[in-house]
Amino acid sequence: MDDDLLARLRRFHTDSFPAYESTFRTLVSEGQHPSTLFIGCSDSRILPHLLTGAGPGELFLVRNVGGFVPPFDGSSGYHGTAAAIEFATLNLGVQRIVICGHSHCGAIRSLYGEPDEEAHHLKVWLDLGRDAMLPVAEPSPEALRRTEQRAVILQLERLMDYPMVRRRVEQKRLTLHGWHYVIEDGQVDVFDVQRGRFIPSTESAHSGTGPYPDPPPDAGQSATAP
Ligand SMILES: [Zn+2]
Repeated sequence: MDDDLLARLRRFHTDSFPAYESTFRTLVSEGQHPSTLFIGCSDSRILPHLLTGAGPGELFLVRNVGGFVPPFDGSSGYHGTAAAIEFATLNLGVQRIVICGHSHCGAIRSLYGEPDEEAHHLKVWLDLGRDAMLPVAEPSPEALRRTEQRAVILQLERLMDYPMVRRRVEQKRLTLHGWHYVIEDGQVDVFDVQRGRFIPSTESAHSGTGPYPDPPPDAGQSATAP
């Protein structure tokens, strides 16, 4: 049987790796210092490195169905995404966290449909997007897009419940960025908290803002040492 995957691995080793060899060796000897935690949907059409032009060592990636952020409460189960947020923030000291949703998201569409009875975990996981739903039985393409964007904001808000994230945002050591990638247009719309909506990156003055443009008034008192 023709093993296409094996052929690709060999091509990587012989054709692609040499150009990156010194970069990877430095990243091994000096360790990784990624600037950005990228939390995105697992959808195969989202290519974080292509979107951002990032190279090796720049992005710490978390991909999951919907690009969701679980609550910080740690009430049950294994929290892979929560653990990654903690690691990226506390150990790697990332300076940015991107939440990237996208058009035609299957996870968001699934919110309006009947889940597969066998998908126990998926059914529960999708709860993380339900607060973004609009009160419509059969969502139009526009309603789906709005739900996708609302879900991004919902995850940004949930991120701020992580004490180590909130503290760094308040100390201006960390910025949060909400993105909605429109696959068919090659356009990333970035959330602008001042204007309360998503703006095409081609028109925006920034790469997205989190739920709060500035630290809350009591940030100075509540902030503690990292
Ligand atoms: Zn998706």
